[in-house]
Amino acid sequence: VPVWLFHCSVPRCTASARCNSMLSFFSFPPDKELRAKWVQNIRRDDLQVTSHTRVCGRHFQPADVIQPSTPLGRRRLKRGAVPLLFEWNNYSLTAHGPSKYLLSTLEVTAYKSKC
Ligand SMILES: [Zn+2]
Repeated sequence: VPVWLFHCSVPRCTASARCNSMLSFFSFPPDKELRAKWVQNIRRDDLQVTSHTRVCGRHFQPADVIQPSTPLGRRRLKRGAVPLLFEWNNYSLTAHGPSKYLLSTLEVTAYKSKC
């Protein structure tokens, strides 16, 4: 599958690699328990996870994302990272406070660059 075909499997998230070329897309972890946690967190009990299923970088805390050493490198997830930030929690883990600041500037910029 070409990278531009990836899209985010989180409900109500419209990110796709085709429209958001700067956004990271992470595949599901191979670990069964961790993978189940991901599915639970994104609220997609019906989700059929394949090797092409992706979750975009908007849903991870910046602390869980390992930045590449070069600007063109791929971002990776820390061991045990799970998607936590969604539209239904305003992309925040706290009740108050502007959640947007939790997202890295790059992810926000990437998400805004639509087709
Ligand atoms: Zn997404």
